[in-house]
Amino acid sequence: MPHHTDYCILGAGIAGLSLADALSDYDLSSVVIEKNSIGSGASGTPGGLVNPATGRRAKKTWKAEQSYESIAANLEKVQSHSDTRFYRNNGLLRPALLKKMARKMKEQYENTTWPDGWCQWKSKEEIQKIHPGVKCVDGGLWLPIGLTVDIGSYIKAYGHYLENNGINIVCGEQPYPISEDGYWLLELDEITIKADHLVFATGHTIATSPFWDWIPLELIKGQVAKFKKESSSLSFSHSISSLGYIARLDEEDTFIQGSTYEHDFTHLNPDAEGESYLRKRMRRSLPQLEKQSKLVDQWAGVRISTPNYKPILGLHPAYSNLHLFSGLGSKGLLLGKFLAEHYADHLTNGTPLYPEIDINRFT
Ligand SMILES: Cc1cc2nc3c(=O)[nH]c(=O)nc-3n(C[C@H](O)[C@H](O)[C@H](O)COP(=O)(O)OP(=O)(O)OC[C@H]3O[C@@H](n4cnc5c(N)ncnc54)[C@H](O)[C@@H]3O)c2cc1C
Repeated sequence: MPHHTDYCILGAGIAGLSLADALSDYDLSSVVIEKNSIGSGASGTPGGLVNPATGRRAKKTWKAEQSYESIAANLEKVQSHSDTRFYRNNGLLRPALLKKMARKMKEQYENTTWPDGWCQWKSKEEIQKIHPGVKCVDGGLWLPIGLTVDIGSYIKAYGHYLENNGINIVCGEQPYPISEDGYWLLELDEITIKADHLVFATGHTIATSPFWDWIPLELIKGQVAKFKKESSSLSFSHSISSLGYIARLDEEDTFIQGSTYEHDFTHLNPDAEGESYLRKRMRRSLPQLEKQSKLVDQWAGVRISTPNYKPILGLHPAYSNLHLFSGLGSKGLLLGKFLAEHYADHLTNGTPLYPEIDINRFT
């Protein structure tokens, strides 16, 4: 007998797991099928930021308040069930590196309504007091609410949390979905799944999926390196968003430098060019740190961007009950949980999808 479920979700990354969780809040069952292991896609990054300020001007992100609230609550929930500490509430520094950038960032800051305590403009001296040695021209921003997350550890702990709460996650399988009599059938090694709905939460692989290859997408590869500081005098406790990001996780003497930047790439692995690119960027904002840091580990992943830089959610125009939840771009950690809750609400209560993320913008 096939195993019947309301939703079958392909992909155990931020999108797939957050959606399974949100659907269970409405008593809808789901089975998550992952072709490799939990967090083996972009969501496996060993360090990233919950950063509600984006781009060169540090503009407040789309739905910043709602998405921050969702991810902060979820990190707390998952952390309370895990012994591995995977996030820190350690604030985020955003120094301007050029005069023009400082002017534009300040203008943007003054024209934005930030929630109380989220964001403060700081002079160059104030920025350099928070982080001695950081390059800064004419000031920058300090975001005390910035969170630093070992995203890969978070997503693994999230998977365990969901499994303990009755959600089936099957790893190491990549079945081809077949639509039959109003159901989706997915044949696994030992069982067939019969699902009312099928969701692709398969990250960048939608670019080559026969169901979704018509969606305009850009694939961008990023690399993340873990460095060890060789001098304790260069200590800092916050994270930094500048020319990529520097994420300070728990270990006192290590930090992560990451950036997504490769528009034309030929392989998916980390490489020496990646390390040298990240070092070049670090040299521009923290030259002393770069000189005294040793590479410990390196990782690479691919994120996708849509023409309006917003995620894509919704139903396939031709197949019934076939859904897409992808395109989380560079803000997947910040947006994923909020969008999963929004989509589950849309599916169960008929709440309209935000037009900016609706798949209908491509049909
Ligand atoms: C270097 C880098 C740094 C980043 N830093 C940050 C950051 O600091 N802050 C932030 O908010 N975001 C950051 N992001 C973005 C964030 O990581 C992504 O937006 C997010 O992880 C995307 O999640 P996803 O679930 O859509 O995709 P993925 O995590 O890629 O998950 C898709 C999953 O689907 C699986 N899969 C694929 N095809 C199939 C199939 N046919 N059947 C079953 N399973 C399948 C894959 O194995 C994978 O596990 C970063 C991304 C990169 C690459």
